[in-house]
Amino acid sequence: MFPAKVARAAGSGASVPVECCQVCGNDRLETVLSLGYMPPVNQMVPVGEAPRQLPWFPTTLLYCDRCELVQLGIAVDPVIIFPPEYPYTSGMTRVLRDNFSDLYAESAQMLALGKDDFIVDIGSNDGTLIGNFQRGGHRVLGIEPTDVAKIASKRGIPTLQRYFSNDVAREVKSRHGAAKVVTAANCFAHIEDVHAIVEGILELLAHDGVFISESHYLIGLIDKLQYDTIYHEHLRYYSLGSLQHLLGMHGLDVFHARPIPTHGGSIRVYAARKGTRPIAPSVQRMLDAEPHGDAMRARLAHFRREVTLSKLRLHAFIRDIKEKDGRIVGISAPSRASTLVNYVGLDEAIIDYVCEIEGSLKIGKYMPGTLIPVVEESRIFADQPDCAIIFSWHIADELAPKLRQKGYRGMLVTPLPTPRVL
Ligand SMILES: [Zn+2]
Repeated sequence: MFPAKVARAAGSGASVPVECCQVCGNDRLETVLSLGYMPPVNQMVPVGEAPRQLPWFPTTLLYCDRCELVQLGIAVDPVIIFPPEYPYTSGMTRVLRDNFSDLYAESAQMLALGKDDFIVDIGSNDGTLIGNFQRGGHRVLGIEPTDVAKIASKRGIPTLQRYFSNDVAREVKSRHGAAKVVTAANCFAHIEDVHAIVEGILELLAHDGVFISESHYLIGLIDKLQYDTIYHEHLRYYSLGSLQHLLGMHGLDVFHARPIPTHGGSIRVYAARKGTRPIAPSVQRMLDAEPHGDAMRARLAHFRREVTLSKLRLHAFIRDIKEKDGRIVGISAPSRASTLVNYVGLDEAIIDYVCEIEGSLKIGKYMPGTLIPVVEESRIFADQPDCAIIFSWHIADELAPKLRQKGYRGMLVTPLPTPRVL
């Protein structure tokens, strides 16, 4: 039932190509896009350190017409993608914080959660999501492999610093009992052996338990030209159809699904053991709106062409500024900025620096694959460069007014889908 040849990079110290579908095992995968070679987004070299060799990995998207999954063409060892010094914390953006508090409000009401119910968050990061359940009075546990786990623990959120696996699921269950809810936000696309993860989740879940996942949404990614969210952390790009296929293989029904605004467009999906919950009309509604088969191929081909054009448009826009000796900086350095910078070919001669808000662990490091330094945001207000490209353009509406309010007077630009002066 499960694919015999799952690409496993863990322990390889390197990468392995994806030769058959990670979900259904189909070995006739179609290439739909290549962004060339990319550095790992979370290995950021300290500013001033002599340049040394770094691995670069092919960044190709594959489509499986059997289970509808769109997936990366390579699996990179998690040790490379999630180094212990992983510089990402999820508590930072308002959209994410609001979404997680909404996830709690929605699920607590819909599932009628009781005080004694045990909730587990996989890939819990700094505890932003699970903290909502904790404040609601439920028993909680976060599971997080990177050092960000320590930040959560310091904030008083019980967190286990481990990679999630069946063994970890068994340990947690024997110590705390079965979980009423298991959540996985944005890590469900990251972990390489997705079948083992779902099996681990089943191990941990009570019979009437519910698994809630949030993933970046493939259809939104295509429609809004968010190719910059393609990087090696994200092994899989889910539609509801492909998620339903995957969960169905493990005896889980998707019983509710809806779009949410995080990361420029994601989906929240509720699943439970077959027959334990009535299926809401939201599921069929979303499935009907998704392209399938040849319609999906056509959408992906159009996407590929638009990605290429967007690169050329950005080049043209930047060239006009540079020919007038304009100075350009970047605003914020999320992982997606690494894909954009490297695919478009921006370097330190084009982008003077990238700003991050005070406290960001990325300050004092170079953007991956470049010598563009990341500096504290205050610099831009003293410098007043001519143009600031907002790399986290999916939250430009939140960032732009703040930058104006703090006194930046130059041009604010969103780079995708086409350069736009705000
Ligand atoms: Zn497949």
